[in-house]
Amino acid sequence: MNALVRQTAEALVQTRNAVALTGAGISIDSGIPPFRGPGGLWERIDPLEVAHIEAFRRDPEKVWQLLLKGMQEFLTGARPNAGHTVLARLEEWGYLRSVITQNVDGLHQAAGSRDVIEYHGTFAYQRCMDCGRRTATPRVDLSRIPPRCDCGGIYRPDCVFFGEMIPPQHLERSHQLVARCDVLLVVGTSATVYPAAMIPMLAKESGARVVEINPEPTPLTGRVSDYLIQGGAGEVLDDILACIHAIRDADGAAPSPY
Ligand code: NAD
Ligand code: ZN
Repeated sequence: MNALVRQTAEALVQTRNAVALTGAGISIDSGIPPFRGPGGLWERIDPLEVAHIEAFRRDPEKVWQLLLKGMQEFLTGARPNAGHTVLARLEEWGYLRSVITQNVDGLHQAAGSRDVIEYHGTFAYQRCMDCGRRTATPRVDLSRIPPRCDCGGIYRPDCVFFGEMIPPQHLERSHQLVARCDVLLVVGTSATVYPAAMIPMLAKESGARVVEINPEPTPLTGRVSDYLIQGGAGEVLDDILACIHAIRDADGAAPSPY
């Protein structure tokens, strides 16, 4: 067994005080492409042209056509994968307190995670730019682009565009959690979008072990993270869960129901 997987499983069992920070990489196996890296959206379009709030205000139809419509299509019908499921199990067993996700796809909740901080908001709801009405996305007519509220205003997803503030309650809670955790699992994020990219640094400064799970090194690797377990999120998290089973079995703990 990979020694780093074993070390991580042991740390989770011993401390029972871990938090996960997740990014687009954990949802790739669910068919949702990331922004960066091979096949990522930013290879084809400039983020500032489509993902900045000013770009949306200037030309909402263009941003809906180039970015939001496609994202919504990927999200519709996407199902959680092994990575999401393992994090939900870890929470259920008391090894993981919370998931802070940069994703807007709702797949952690769909997998059963209960304490999920949606740092960048969600695509599950749309907000009217004029009257502020918040409507569940399936109730919005997306055949007309840009989609419109009954008041005539344009809908935007309830997510954070570049150039917008992170909702203060999410920022504050994430920082509190991370300042107190013993282990931070950084899963499937390139850690290049600020202020989310500060989270591993805050954890490190507070004395937590920072474990990256990613097929590729990131700017955190060798600087902020204690180590990188190189591989896909589903496969590595599955291995960690199997290792936790083995540790529990060896300790004579009651067999887990899974
Ligand atoms: P990113 O696109 O910048 O980086 C993705 C990371 O995932 C890379 O480091 C890559 O090496 C890694 N990766 C690739 N395959 C993987 C796998 N199988 N398992 C684990 N990791 C894998 O993603 P980001 O850091 O989350 O930043 C992008 C921003 O875009 C986010 O803040 C989010 O708001 C948004 N976004 C969300 C979704 C989603 O909700 N699913 C999808 C795309 C972008
Ligand atoms: Zn309205």
